[in-house]
Amino acid sequence: MNLLRHHQKISSLSRFPFWMVVLSGLITFGLAGCAKDAADELATGALPAESEAQFAGRYKDAVDEVMASMTLEQKIGQMIQGEIKHVTPEDVRKYGLGSVLNGGGSFPDKNRHATLEDWQQLADAYYRASVDTSGGGAGIPLTWGTDAVHGHSNVIGTTLFPHNIGLGAANDPALVAAIAAATAKETLATGIDWIFAPTVAVAKDYRWGRAYESYSSDPVRVGSYAGDFVTAMQGEGVIATAKHFIGDGGTYQGDDQGDTRLSLEALLSEHGAGYESAIESGVWSVMASFNSWHGEKVHGNRELLTDVLKGKMGFQGMVVSDWNGIGQVRGCKDDDCVQAVNAGIDMIMIPEDWKSLYHNMLRQVRSGEIPMERIDDAVRRILTVKFASGLMTRGLPSETAAKHVDSVGSAEHRAIARTAVRKSLVLLKNEEGLLPLDPGGRYLLVGPAADDIGRQSGGWTISWQGTGNENADFPGATSIRGGFAEQIEAAGGVLYTEGDLDSNPEIDAVIVAYGEAPYAEGQGDIQSLAWQQQSQTDLKVLQRFAEAGYPVVSLFVTGRPRWVNAELNASDAFVVAWLPGSEGGGVADVMLRAADGSPQYDFVGRLPMAWPAHDINADDANLPVAKHLFPVGYGLSAGEASQLAQLDETPVGAVTSEAMMVFAGGIKEPWSLYIGDQADWAVPITSAVQTSVNGVVAIESFDYRVQEDARRIEFSGGGVQEGQFFIDSDVATDLSKLAEEGGALVMEMRVSEQPTAPVSLRMDCGYPCSGEMDISPMLAGLLPNVWKRVAYPLACFENAGTDMSAVDVPFLLVTAGNLGFDLAEISINDEFDDAELQACDVTPDE
Ligand code: BGC
Ligand code: BGC
Repeated sequence: MNLLRHHQKISSLSRFPFWMVVLSGLITFGLAGCAKDAADELATGALPAESEAQFAGRYKDAVDEVMASMTLEQKIGQMIQGEIKHVTPEDVRKYGLGSVLNGGGSFPDKNRHATLEDWQQLADAYYRASVDTSGGGAGIPLTWGTDAVHGHSNVIGTTLFPHNIGLGAANDPALVAAIAAATAKETLATGIDWIFAPTVAVAKDYRWGRAYESYSSDPVRVGSYAGDFVTAMQGEGVIATAKHFIGDGGTYQGDDQGDTRLSLEALLSEHGAGYESAIESGVWSVMASFNSWHGEKVHGNRELLTDVLKGKMGFQGMVVSDWNGIGQVRGCKDDDCVQAVNAGIDMIMIPEDWKSLYHNMLRQVRSGEIPMERIDDAVRRILTVKFASGLMTRGLPSETAAKHVDSVGSAEHRAIARTAVRKSLVLLKNEEGLLPLDPGGRYLLVGPAADDIGRQSGGWTISWQGTGNENADFPGATSIRGGFAEQIEAAGGVLYTEGDLDSNPEIDAVIVAYGEAPYAEGQGDIQSLAWQQQSQTDLKVLQRFAEAGYPVVSLFVTGRPRWVNAELNASDAFVVAWLPGSEGGGVADVMLRAADGSPQYDFVGRLPMAWPAHDINADDANLPVAKHLFPVGYGLSAGEASQLAQLDETPVGAVTSEAMMVFAGGIKEPWSLYIGDQADWAVPITSAVQTSVNGVVAIESFDYRVQEDARRIEFSGGGVQEGQFFIDSDVATDLSKLAEEGGALVMEMRVSEQPTAPVSLRMDCGYPCSGEMDISPMLAGLLPNVWKRVAYPLACFENAGTDMSAVDVPFLLVTAGNLGFDLAEISINDEFDDAELQACDVTPDE
């Protein structure tokens, strides 16, 4: 690892605007025209001795030789990456696909418990099909890509590292490189050789649901990591991917896949540092971003993908498109987008519709819409990467895997992860030097993040959204509680749980672990940085213990800075743990002292993004919060006492209504989704496709406005078996105010199959406390497969028996018949159109 090189690069970056650095590089290398392909320049011998960045020349002859005998069909096949659910090895043999991927939460045979051998076997099957020339194939090994963005997180039992934001706090490029190498090894152990990381996004507005995938809001920090990450990962023979090019972290209002409005210079200087650094280290792939630039999708932008990235910036590897990203270009479809290919996409990530894309592209090349030179450039880049990474000669994935299986979840890798956890913790408040605590003391540890490994691991963990996981899904991992318990017990102290409170134990301090529940991509987008502005659930817990006279420690588990002034006021100490991953023991390592009273490990983490002083921007809510409580780089050391004055708890964006989203894109806190039939009335929804125990109810996620934002629910009781679909929470919610104000349960839904028996809609207040209505007449009035918003006044449920002050199930649908029902949104709301309002005078028994 050449750290020095990167440090020099950073200082040069900070002194000159980014584009100037790039330009001066161009002048040195004599690359004048932007669109000119760098690999072709190499062929003319115009360049000086090769650096890592110019790897194409090394493989030019070999690539030429392979390309000389390739047919157009074979070339187009090389450019396509389908998803493992939709591509069989036979497809690879027949169409010569260059690549496959598994999306987040996609596994061999759709089995989330797939073993290392299951992954390897599928990898071998694809590989064998790709090199089989008996049916006329080109015999080029396929590459398999995966989102190992914080460890090989699709696979149970792997080491999960802190998400990027926590690594940003650690400010340690060598640590990040060690993580990249470890992740590469665990990924190779499953037969996979391409990773869609590092994310080098520079998150500017933390309302963005991917802020946690960003190392920092400071491009210099991002640049200081990207190159070392790439060098380490590719050093293991795994293709790294700098993503998402470019401007993903700079969208208007922090909107995922939104619009970034910056001049080219600003786009490059604010969001380009990671690419510059990754390219300098010879990164083999770059992923195009879903976002637009001044209203036009980057996926269709030739200036950015070809002139800037491949031209000015000198990128010699392959540009991969994001998940159906080409279909978002104006006028394009997922399987049909001349503009994206011509703009410079080399490898097309098209999970499902790859076959029609293949045929469309063949036609478009034959008709001249896509120039043959463009296809040749793309294939040349893909093959260059396959040679450079060693894939062309590596052989069976399982043979490479065999060398790495021992590394999966190994003690060595877990130690790296635990170090990363220790270094990522940021101490924001520490009255009277409360932390670190004496391990021999008596503590109460409570809160939803205390003993939940899924929650401490965030999104992109086993499932795409990171939801639906239990501690048993993480063999070998340690929860935050597990870490505290081990050390406190060893030191002769006591760690109590909430249940122990009945016996009135002596307690030296209360630790409350709380924060964000997992999310990924757009499902994590929020309107305001305020933490629990409406429910204030965690604040009430903090205040309850503070009022009882206990020292209170907040342990905030979060993917981003949130506005927590009230929680800070209610806490004596406040630690930000970010999303630590599988090695929760690293938290106790820093929060507890050694037996001799000295800190075991200092708090070395420093804020990678500024901490907000407001919930929204006070002058313009469209812009990121501009006033900060703590700047980038802030963080106290162990034992350092803070003197934080009482903070203003008045939100700028005051809640104007009690309205609450229950389901939008995904289920919102504190709610959870369930299905059930008489074999088990409450089966929690843990994956994208699920069925109740007797098979009466099936639920599946599908794409409506964005990916997987809607649910299809199918009842098949045939008139004899009841099934139900419902939304539940452990804590009851008081809806009486909204009910008084004329609020309603508002749903955006459509019917795919009309009910064959009555359908009831229920709202419970701790069943059997409940109010119920027959909604069959409403359903009968809907047009098939047309989305509609319907609003049932809360008063309907109240009249039918619901106690509005304590609602725990705001929505329950039950029928013994067959019914197909799609759901996009559920809210409890006082804003709706009169046309959406439903009559409620029908009850099931009438
Ligand atoms: C998302 C992917 C994800 C996949 C999981 C898609 O809709 O865009 O990122 O991997 O779902 O199934
Ligand atoms: C995400 C990418 C990811 C891809 C494949 C997309 O939805 O934006 O970051 O690599 O899915 O799962």
